[in-house]
Amino acid sequence: MNIILLGAPGAGKGTQASRISDAYKLPHISTGDIFRENIKNETPIGLLAKSYIDKGQLVPDEVTCKIVEGRIEKDDCKDGYMLDGFPRTIAQAEALDKITKIDLVINIDVDFSLLLDRLCGRRVCKDCGESYHISWLNGATSCKRCGGELYQRKDDNEETVQSRLDVYNAQTAPLIEYYSKKGLLFNVEGNNSPDAVFAAVAEKLDAMKK
Ligand code: AMP
Repeated sequence: MNIILLGAPGAGKGTQASRISDAYKLPHISTGDIFRENIKNETPIGLLAKSYIDKGQLVPDEVTCKIVEGRIEKDDCKDGYMLDGFPRTIAQAEALDKITKIDLVINIDVDFSLLLDRLCGRRVCKDCGESYHISWLNGATSCKRCGGELYQRKDDNEETVQSRLDVYNAQTAPLIEYYSKKGLLFNVEGNNSPDAVFAAVAEKLDAMKK
């Protein structure tokens, strides 16, 4: 099964993606993670991506599409995969349509007023990528899952978050209609707890497997 996870920044895509990936044995392809890895390793793609990511803008479509195309051609994707954070523009979605068939688009729908706080208070594990909110950490600085060090993403500051939300509204939100028209959209209420969101997603995926 080829799945796309859609949702505004801070909607909980990463959290759900790791759960879905574990439960349904699907490779989790996060373009944001791929860019961060490239930035860490100071590759040419990383240097280019950094200039956009630091401003809360999108990395150009040509660069992003090429990365995804190369990734989904890999052997581990032959029985399915899950895209997290891609596509983010109509042009990316059209490029994807040319190279693969998508079975389901899960749209995590959240109240916009929650997102600024969710993102600015987010801390992420350097090793496994698990996300936390500072209000739940009680001062802890390491990951409950793997013990890794928690850090704040550079683009999780108020100014950059605002720009990411504006970019989402202008360029990514139109994908909801794009996939709805294709009959592929599954909306899930993202204001609920991660467990409740996952339960709704799992019910849908299990029904599709039957
Ligand atoms: P994320 O980890 O998904 O929040 O992505 C972090 C940042 O990486 C975004 O704010 C963009 O600058 C960039 N990025 C991730 N995915 C894409 C994409 N599909 N198209 C363009 N830029 C992207």
